[in-house]
Amino acid sequence: MTAGAPAAAEAGVQALTDAHSQLAEAVAFHGYDEGTHATLAASRRELTVSIPLRRDDGSVEVLTGYRVQHNISRGPAKGGLRYSPGVGLDEVRALAMWMTWKCALLDVPYGGAKGGVAIDPRLHSRAELERVTRRYTTEILPIIGPQHDIPAPDIGTDENVMAWIMDTYSVSKGHTVPGVVTGKPLSLGGSLGRSSATSRGVVHVALAALDSLGIEHRAATAAVQGFGKVGRDAARFLQQAGVAVVAVADQYGAVHASGGLDIEALARHVDETGSVVGFGNAEPIEGDELLELAVDLLVPAAVEGVINAQNASRIAARVVVEGANGPTTREADRVLADSGVLVVPDILANAGGVIVSYFEWVQSNQSFRWGLDEVESRLAERMLGGWHDVTRFATQHDLTLRAAATALAVQRVTEAHRQRGLYP
Ligand code: NAD
Repeated sequence: MTAGAPAAAEAGVQALTDAHSQLAEAVAFHGYDEGTHATLAASRRELTVSIPLRRDDGSVEVLTGYRVQHNISRGPAKGGLRYSPGVGLDEVRALAMWMTWKCALLDVPYGGAKGGVAIDPRLHSRAELERVTRRYTTEILPIIGPQHDIPAPDIGTDENVMAWIMDTYSVSKGHTVPGVVTGKPLSLGGSLGRSSATSRGVVHVALAALDSLGIEHRAATAAVQGFGKVGRDAARFLQQAGVAVVAVADQYGAVHASGGLDIEALARHVDETGSVVGFGNAEPIEGDELLELAVDLLVPAAVEGVINAQNASRIAARVVVEGANGPTTREADRVLADSGVLVVPDILANAGGVIVSYFEWVQSNQSFRWGLDEVESRLAERMLGGWHDVTRFATQHDLTLRAAATALAVQRVTEAHRQRGLYP
């Protein structure tokens, strides 16, 4: 077992418990019956696979991988693939359920899925990662496809991993199938604007949330946890909007500058050294300290469960915008609501990725490329539409934004179930 795995397993159990309790709250809000609740709670399909890997030194290691399709009532299953040492079935189940709600909330015609392989990608060569990816793809091949289930990048995976999945799937079919994954390289039919879409979406709703509290962008401060695919561009776009990003953390440490960090220079430092640690013109702080800074905006964009019962009462931000999936536990959610912190939930805040994944899938299926302006304006329209839907529903029914978002999404999925009926 890798170091940190027990903590990750616990985080997975917590994430699934939280996902189920959010669903239970939405079911109670709508007054749905037990059968409807049970149908919404159950995963449609769950696959656990063994992945034997021949390492570069000739030894063999067996890894475990998962693909969970939570719901496919509104369209093909859709969700990222995570390479992380402690990833387990409960974590993947929770993430798949959140994908179902996210797609329904933003009216993207998909169900929800998620995949994971228990591997630390930093400890493997590129050739090993390619072999793992191709074997994992082969094992889950019977349940994926452009009309079945469409993976995308998540923690520890990137466009290269998507290219290997697309190639493995295409070779097995005997022809090229670009629509089987999203987040592909542009040269293989990826969409312009996809790699920064999640971060763009995070910043669209973050700025809307600041506006709703009357906080001027140019007077606002922010802290961002995570400097990967989501956190890095979120910090960059916030800075471009005039917000001072005063602290950034990654898994190795955190840096702080009260006048605002130079995000472009920080990105260059991370490209050169692999971490934010040691960045000049900033003071080092503890990663946990970042979460408790008195900033206007906190963007957790790393992993689950970082805002929890232990630290929730010390969160001093006025707005939390969840770039990550499940960064706030249920207990912490209640504490933040009681203390008046506005939490923009993950299923709304980080939906930009799946929105542009949908645009990529449409382009792949039509063998046609849209321009960047078209992608970005349609993304902005959907994100701000989602923000208005959720805030209006929350105000009408006196709910938190998370409760409102989940209730709206659950209502749409239930409508699809009812219209399709129960077979046989
Ligand atoms: P990534 O692997 O590209 O980056 C993760 C970042 O988090 C890295 O900088 C890493 O060092 C940091 N990190 C990990 N553990 C940490 C810790 N304990 N404290 C501080 N930093 C830590 O992953 P990503 O794609 O940016 O995903 C981040 C989150 O966003 C995940 O929850 C993911 O599910 C969610 N998300 C991603 C996308 C997407 O399009 N990539 C879309 C929606 C949601």
